This record gives sequence, C-alpha cells and structure tokens, in this order.
Amino acid sequence: MIDMHQEIRDAVARLCADFPDEYWRKLDAERAYPSEFVKALTEQGYLAALIPEEYGGIGLGLSAGVAILEEIHRAGGNAAACHAQMYTMGTLLRHGSDAQKARYLPGIADGSQRLQAFGVTEPGSGTNTPAIKTFARREGDRYIVNGQKIWTSRAEHSDLMILLARTTPQAEVARRTDGLSVFIVDMTAAREAGMRISPIRTMMNHGSCEVFFDDVEIPAENLIGEEGRGFRYIMSGMNAERILIASECIGDAKWLLARASAYAREREVFGRPIGQNQGIAFPLAQAYARMRAAELMVHDAVRRYEAGENPGAEANMAKMLAAEASWDAAEAAVQTFGGFGFAEEYDIERKFRETRLYQVAPISTNLVLSYIAEHVMGLPRSY
Ligand SMILES: Cc1cc2nc3c(=O)[nH]c(=O)nc-3n(C[C@H](O)[C@H](O)[C@H](O)COP(=O)(O)OP(=O)(O)OC[C@H]3O[C@@H](n4cnc5c(N)ncnc54)[C@H](O)[C@@H]3O)c2cc1C
Repeated sequence: MIDMHQEIRDAVARLCADFPDEYWRKLDAERAYPSEFVKALTEQGYLAALIPEEYGGIGLGLSAGVAILEEIHRAGGNAAACHAQMYTMGTLLRHGSDAQKARYLPGIADGSQRLQAFGVTEPGSGTNTPAIKTFARREGDRYIVNGQKIWTSRAEHSDLMILLARTTPQAEVARRTDGLSVFIVDMTAAREAGMRISPIRTMMNHGSCEVFFDDVEIPAENLIGEEGRGFRYIMSGMNAERILIASECIGDAKWLLARASAYAREREVFGRPIGQNQGIAFPLAQAYARMRAAELMVHDAVRRYEAGENPGAEANMAKMLAAEASWDAAEAAVQTFGGFGFAEEYDIERKFRETRLYQVAPISTNLVLSYIAEHVMGLPRSY
C-alpha cells in the first residue's frame, strides 16, 4: 500500500522538481498564487485525475488523489492552491444533474474552469455549520443570495464556487440540518451581480477570503440536487476531503523529517554531528514513527473508501493523526535546525507555519474527537 500509484508518485515528483524551494518561498513572501505550478499540474492531467473519463478526466480513484497530493507536499510544495478541486468536484459529480455535469466538468478537467472555492464557513456559525445565516431566496427562475462567508480559500483564483446557503429558515425545518442547499456559483457572473471578495492576510500563503453577498442573483438551474438537502451533499464529500488533507500532512511530515535528518547528519557542533545526540535523534525518530502510523491509517481509510464502505471513523482519525504527525515533525525539525530553523532560506519555518493549519481546518481536532467519541465509542453527543 505504501507504494500506491508509484508511477504517479514518480511523475509528480519530477514535475515538482521544476518548482524548487525558492519558488514556494517567493510566493510565500508575496502571498501570491502559484499559477505556474497549478498550470503545470493541470496540463499533465493531475487535477483531473478523479474526474470520470466521459467528462474529460482520467477517472482514477481517491488513492490517486492521495498519491498526487502527498508527493506535492513531500517535495516541499503546497497543494492548498488547488486541492479543493479534487473534493468539491465530488459534490457536483455525485449530486449534480446530467446537464450540470456536462456543462462544468469538462472545463474543470481541462483547467479552463477552476473549481477551487468552497463557501461553507461563516463568521457567526464557525464549526456549527447548520447555524449558517447566508440565505438564498427563490424568486421565479433565480435565487437571491444575501450573507457572508469567511475563510473561503482561493476565492480570488477560482471561476466556480460550491456554495452552501439556507433556503428555509432554521426555525421552520424539522431537523437543524434541513433547509440548506448547495449551489454552483459562476464567480464572474456573481461578482458582476454584487458579490464582493476581501482577502484575509494569514500567517501562511493560503489565499483565504471573506465573501459578501448583497442581493446576488444566481440562476435557479445552478442549484445542485434537491433544495433543502445540501447539508447531506456537503457531508458526503467530507470523508474524501479528510483523507486528501491527511495525505498532504503525511507529505509535509516526510519532507520535514528528510530535511531535518539530512541536517542532523551534516551539522557538526562539539566536533560531532548533532544527530548523534539522542536529544536530537529521538524526537525525529518519534515523529517518524507517528507519521508512519498515521500513514497506515490514511491507507486504511482510502482502502475502505474505494471499497464503497463508510470510512467516516478512519477518515477522521487519519486526518487527526496525520495533522498531529506533521506538527510533531515540524516541531522536531525546528529544534534540529536550531537558529536556522527560523531563517526563511531554509524553508523549515515556512512548512512549520503551513502545516499547523491542519489541526484547525478543514475540521478541528476537537470535532474529530467528538466524532470518534459519539459515533465510534457510543458516548453522549457533546454539542
Ligand atoms: C486558512 C484557512 C482556510 C480555510 N478554508 C476554508 C474554505 O475554503 N472553506 C470553508 O468553508 N471554510 C474554510 N476554513 C474554515 C475552517 O473550516 C474553520 O476555521 C474551522 O472549521 C473552525 O471553525 P472556526 O474557525 O469558526 O472555529 P470555531 O468554530 O469558532 O471554534 C474555535 C475553537 O473551538 C473549538 N470548538 C468549537 N465547538 C466545539 C465543541 N462543541 N467541542 C469542542 N471544541 C469546540 C474548535 O475545535 C476550535 O478549536 C478555513 C480556515 C482557515 C483558517
């Protein structure tokens, strides 16, 4: 399983070699989008890997996505600029109409239409997604959208957005997760109709934004699936999202541990390599063991996903363990590099900042623990 899709991994590694540390460092300093990298990935078909062949993609399973994203991170890059396409596309694929799929998927597959924005989180609701306030009111053949999203990553670099909005007030539905609907939003048309995007500067280069809707009209034909069932549609993509993000964390951990152990072998202080000190070697060895354990959980989750099982528990655990493993690796790497761990030119501090995110987003560790406690262990629901 560890050699899952070795050919793809080798090819992605070759592609990534054209985008060395300096490339990512410069983008980070400028908080700029990796357009050339995303273009290269698209041209070689990697962003269309999971799109069925009939829509112009390659039609591979989730394990191919895992291999691609892990390798990008293992090479020191960051797939956050484009990873959402792999999982948001699934919402359209599973729940969209034939007409919607025929209209959007070929463009997504050939890169002419970027589906990178995923508008779920709102400032007032946070993790409590059913409490979102953005409202889409039906008027004839269109919906009028009002509200605000936050942390909508890549909104400025995306042609399409998957948007979750309320279509029936929470007070009027039987279950709090009812009355939410999913739309595919044409970002250019929505901007012309009054949608505003405002970037948020964060500690790493992630392109996250606030998105404001003020009477923005969306054609009714852009509703995905049935009105009111959107929460289920979004949730059905969560396992894939968690597994893919976990694979990025595994890639980060491998990159960090490779850099740190190379440095620990070479750097001499007191006349011997620093890696000879167990105070340096053991944290690296421990982080390696944790990374491998998390990697096995990722593989188990993928195997179950591809076998058509419900891998909810494994996907959540994979995401949590991989995010913790990459953070352990980042922490050990900074300590190994000493002062140089803080110097931008070594890229350790950049990865340290980047990989911290995954204990918070796309779902925070506490919520994963709540899931395991409730759904796996039968403990009372805590919220
Ligand atoms: C860089 C970045 C990119 C993102 N990209 C996107 C995106 O593209 N699209 C999108 O929709 N969202 C995105 N998000 C949002 C992300 O999914 C949320 O930040 C995350 O789900 C947490 O929500 P919150 O920030 O509102 O935290 P809150 O919900 O306010 O939670 C704050 C803290 O309290 C804890 N907490 C809350 N409730 C409970 C509870 N019941 N039990 C235990 N602990 C609890 C949380 O675990 C967390 O640690 C992004 C976030 C960031 C930072």
